[in-house]
Amino acid sequence: MEDHSIKVNFCSSEKEKPKSDQLQFGRVFTDHMFIMDYSAPLGWHDARIVPYQPLSIDPSAMVFHYGQSVFEGLKAYLNPDGEAQLFRPEKNLQRINRSNDRLCIPPIDEEYALKAIKQLVAIDKDWIPEAEGTSLYIRPFIISTEAFLGVAPSHNYKFIVILSPVGAYYKEGINPVKIAVENKYVRAVAGGTGEAKTGGNYASSLKAQELVANSGYAQVLWLDGVEKKYIEEVGSMNVFFKIDGEVVTPKLNGSILEGVTRNSVIELLKYWDIPVSERRISMEDLRQAHQEGRLEEAFGSGTAAVISPIGQLTWNDTDLIINNHETGPVAKRLYDTLTGIQYGKVEDPFGWIE
Ligand code: PMP
Repeated sequence: MEDHSIKVNFCSSEKEKPKSDQLQFGRVFTDHMFIMDYSAPLGWHDARIVPYQPLSIDPSAMVFHYGQSVFEGLKAYLNPDGEAQLFRPEKNLQRINRSNDRLCIPPIDEEYALKAIKQLVAIDKDWIPEAEGTSLYIRPFIISTEAFLGVAPSHNYKFIVILSPVGAYYKEGINPVKIAVENKYVRAVAGGTGEAKTGGNYASSLKAQELVANSGYAQVLWLDGVEKKYIEEVGSMNVFFKIDGEVVTPKLNGSILEGVTRNSVIELLKYWDIPVSERRISMEDLRQAHQEGRLEEAFGSGTAAVISPIGQLTWNDTDLIINNHETGPVAKRLYDTLTGIQYGKVEDPFGWIE
């Protein structure tokens, strides 16, 4: 019978860990990483945890040319007892398999991958920073490694998990940001790869982001790729609006990434009996709601920031100022509750913590 255990090769010397109040995002990596390979007829095999190290890959490997790759992002948090905990990791593994399906990458065994992530985090547990709001970012990803320049699904892949200690997203408290509505570039189109977490979506988002950053905007608000009328996402977050007491978020339509935080926000709002709906929202409806004083709050949701309030939306030449540039009560309550659950400081009525 095939051996499915994860071989571990410990590093011979540990790297110096950064101070937990001086961490940035994604610059420093831990001592170990997880790898397994895919090839026929074995399927996924040779699962191992090895010292963090560069990869040796053929320059003709397909990932470098046609971008057949997927990734995920989740975090490990230290709870008050000093134990490592994960927030809904099974959701990320379900999503990586949906992304795999879209990119013609063979599926991974979700339970096995979760076991591998837990084992890797346990080995590098001392890398989970302790300062308030910090965490250990977990980046699972798959690349196509076959040495071939034909445009076709690769026959070989690597599934890799790396870990990076990251600082608090909000160092001076949760703060509303300025967002520019993007009228020229689009992130994704129906039938494209928008609902998959694949590198190309992020490469194509850079131009718009770069242009607005020069004018002091934190992110762009993406509109649909056909009519450029309907709201999709904000930067690399999902987006919510509170209009007339109801919280609304764009309905999943094939071009929106289904965020784990988005789903958690919807579940929490339902649990609190706050009206919430998923539907198509046009920029014109939003402008009108704002004009009539019915747009009460706006915020993004994602693993990095958890909740990111929007204080201003600029659409063409109009500035919509939202809630006087202040964090609204729903955004604040969601942020406090979600981070409370993630760090094991408040009760977790949903069983979201592993
Ligand atoms: N949309 C995009 C495009 C993203 O990259 C992310 C981050 N994964 C999200 C939304 C939010 O997803 P999640 O809540 O799972 O982090």
